[in-house]
Amino acid sequence: MSENSDASFEMALPAAYRPSVEATGLKRSDSLVRARLGGIQTARVTRSQLADIMLEDVQSARAGLLRLPRVIVASNGSVIARYHSDPQFRALIDAADLVDPDGMPLVLASRLLWKRPLTERVATTDFIHDACRVAVEQGLRFYFLGARPGVADRAADRLRALHPGVQIVGSRHGYFGADEEEEICATVRSSGADVLWLGLGSPAQESFAIRRRASLAGLGWIRTCGGMFDHYTGLVPRAPQWMQNAGLEWLHRSMLEPARLGVRYLKTNPAAVWHLLTKSYER
Ligand code: UDP
Repeated sequence: MSENSDASFEMALPAAYRPSVEATGLKRSDSLVRARLGGIQTARVTRSQLADIMLEDVQSARAGLLRLPRVIVASNGSVIARYHSDPQFRALIDAADLVDPDGMPLVLASRLLWKRPLTERVATTDFIHDACRVAVEQGLRFYFLGARPGVADRAADRLRALHPGVQIVGSRHGYFGADEEEEICATVRSSGADVLWLGLGSPAQESFAIRRRASLAGLGWIRTCGGMFDHYTGLVPRAPQWMQNAGLEWLHRSMLEPARLGVRYLKTNPAAVWHLLTKSYER
């Protein structure tokens, strides 16, 4: 599908991509090709390209060339469904600097509809390894914020064991009130972190990232990461590889938490499929 036939939908979309006005100079992420997937401007990016962009943005931030951190968020079926049903959430996603294709259904939709499909998904739980490799080589520093008490600490320990030398300079649980946000941001800043990994669940993490980016000036990236910390402590096992490849990770998560996630996916999946099939444009 290459033409957008729905004019009102077109009007409601953000300008193709708004590079951070705060940034000076052209960064690679500004020139990235984006395509609309389920209505959301999504970067055509691989995991290793994204890790390179992270490095460039951190280097720019360290050189004082990036006034505010870039906000990087992930798109999947639930995000697409919410994007079209919740105007506030839509505004948050539109305000992000880069949306990457986290969900396998997005890759499958691109294979079905496009001449040049996406080459791979950028699952945050996998991308963290690409990011850690670059961080070890280049001395980047990470801060983990989110999940229940102790979980982000344990995830940090696990990643330090997998990537010796990776600097995870601080971590904190994700259960706090609005009145604590400013102090948390000050702690993150003073930790010397370059990248804040933010796993508060959606839409809290997207909201925190956009609302608080000014309080996090000096960092290169704020990267939302959903339940990633839980995966690295073994609290929530990942789906078997065949389910991931078939775009069925949601089914695995539904089986683990039927009351919360089964019900959610029953509602969001049909909407996500509809938006993917009717609002995915290759250019
Ligand atoms: N979480 C948090 N603070 C909250 C609510 C949730 O840190 O106030 C964490 C929760 O412990 C889990 C993550 O956010 O680690 C949510 O992960 P999930 O993948 O379920 O996110 P969702 O799919 O709901 O966006």
